[in-house]
Amino acid sequence: MESETFERPALGRTPRGVPVVAEADVVVIGAGPGGFAAALRARREGCSVVLLEKFDMPGGVHTSGLQGAAGAGVGGIHTELMDRFAREGAIYTATERDLPDWAGNPLSHYDYYLPPGSPFKRSSFNPDGAGNVMLRMLEEAGVHAIYGASFTDVEMEPAGDQRRITHAICETVEGRQAVRGRVFVEGSGTAEVVARAGCPFVRGGGRQPDTVPQDGASRPVPGGLLWIMGGIDFAATAAYQKREGDPELQRLIERARAAGDIPPELYRPRLPSPDVYGTHYIGHPTVDMSPIQGPGTFILWQNVPYEWALHMDDDAGHASRAKKALRQLIDAEARFLTKYVPGFERAFITHVGRYVGVRDGRHPIGEYVFSIDDARSGRRFEDAVTQPMTKTFFWDRYTRYSFEVPYRCFLPREVDNLLLTGASLSFTFETIFMVMRNFPWCTQTGEIAGYAAARCIRQGIPPKQLSWREPLF
Ligand SMILES: Cc1cc2nc3c(=O)[nH]c(=O)nc-3n(C[C@H](O)[C@H](O)[C@H](O)COP(=O)(O)OP(=O)(O)OC[C@H]3O[C@@H](n4cnc5c(N)ncnc54)[C@H](O)[C@@H]3O)c2cc1C
Repeated sequence: MESETFERPALGRTPRGVPVVAEADVVVIGAGPGGFAAALRARREGCSVVLLEKFDMPGGVHTSGLQGAAGAGVGGIHTELMDRFAREGAIYTATERDLPDWAGNPLSHYDYYLPPGSPFKRSSFNPDGAGNVMLRMLEEAGVHAIYGASFTDVEMEPAGDQRRITHAICETVEGRQAVRGRVFVEGSGTAEVVARAGCPFVRGGGRQPDTVPQDGASRPVPGGLLWIMGGIDFAATAAYQKREGDPELQRLIERARAAGDIPPELYRPRLPSPDVYGTHYIGHPTVDMSPIQGPGTFILWQNVPYEWALHMDDDAGHASRAKKALRQLIDAEARFLTKYVPGFERAFITHVGRYVGVRDGRHPIGEYVFSIDDARSGRRFEDAVTQPMTKTFFWDRYTRYSFEVPYRCFLPREVDNLLLTGASLSFTFETIFMVMRNFPWCTQTGEIAGYAAARCIRQGIPPKQLSWREPLF
């Protein structure tokens, strides 16, 4: 039998006595779209890169969390990824030929607003297939990715009026270990590095005044656990919806509730307020699904009950409660669907996400905090990271704004060698939640951070001293 030796250079210990197991120019924490693209770009720019990821593959919410929504490439690594997923058979596209009753169907998570029966194209990537491709891309580039490594802390040193991270501390099967680096990248999706490094942030649920729910409570937008069912005969479900005039399956839900087959947290009424809790992400007022992976296979959403106001990113009790409750709700929903809903008789759970996705975690306060007013007024910045981009702000009556984002949004206050990416950029809650946390933009921001890190390594300066004058995209 072959034996594998794991040679480790003698790198000593940190000032606090933690064994140092690796060192690199750039250390990236978390391999979601942001961390993945940062690691890849920095490595391709010639830096040595260590990437710490607590699960077994890159991709974050979009692979380990099963959220495989795919769209057209927006340039750079994002386009490369979409092309590669397609080439390697990891993309599935459903159209009106596969699902003639899908467009305009109230059970559709994404396509409910289309005129019924209209043409549509819904593309998703197979989360595990896509994760395998991303893992291979990091290997091909020579990124030293360490999987099963949970980042827990940092060691730091003073740097003028700032502080500087010297080591990322993580837990692996060998216990506590350290990785030494020069530039660090925040890719945890919930600003964990920011929190451990003592940089300022707004806790999830922190709101701008005009978006506080009418009851005055400040609750994080609920996170969710995604899951996949196979063996669904959607034509039979659609036939039932039409035959019985029950498009949202309300009659079946009421029958199941009367029989005690639906727990109170499942299929709750919408809150009456017009804010985000009234119109988005409040849980499941009805069945909510999208085709994924192939015919008869759909992804479903299970959100944290909104009234629980869970802070799953920084409260272990809340995190554990969410994991348990969401699994129980998925179990209850699967039982309801197979027992009551035509077309689901032979359906079965094929996957439950590896983790509960946080939609509204910590919002770091950076050298610039991008606000909704910046988008509304179409602000331009000398240190813009992209050409002006135009995005639809769904929560602002679906208005389209054209604006730029400054490099300073990537720089958390108080630490001079940490770069932000993805869902952990220095944006106010509204801007991140409304628009600026989708897969393409998270991948782009990762690539921007990786490029910035490499320029810093070449110039021998920390990211706060980098002069940024040319948009990357
Ligand atoms: C339920 C849900 C549904 C969503 N739906 C959509 C959608 O339909 N379309 C869309 O475009 N976007 C969607 N989003 C938003 C999008 O998924 C996120 O904003 C995006 O994935 C954030 O990317 P990221 O790289 O910042 O972090 P993440 O994707 O969260 O990745 C973070 C990575 O860091 C790792 N990590 C975290 N902590 C540690 C640690 N301590 N040590 C080591 N590794 C760590 C995680 O395992 C993960 O791999 C959704 C988000 C959620 C939560």
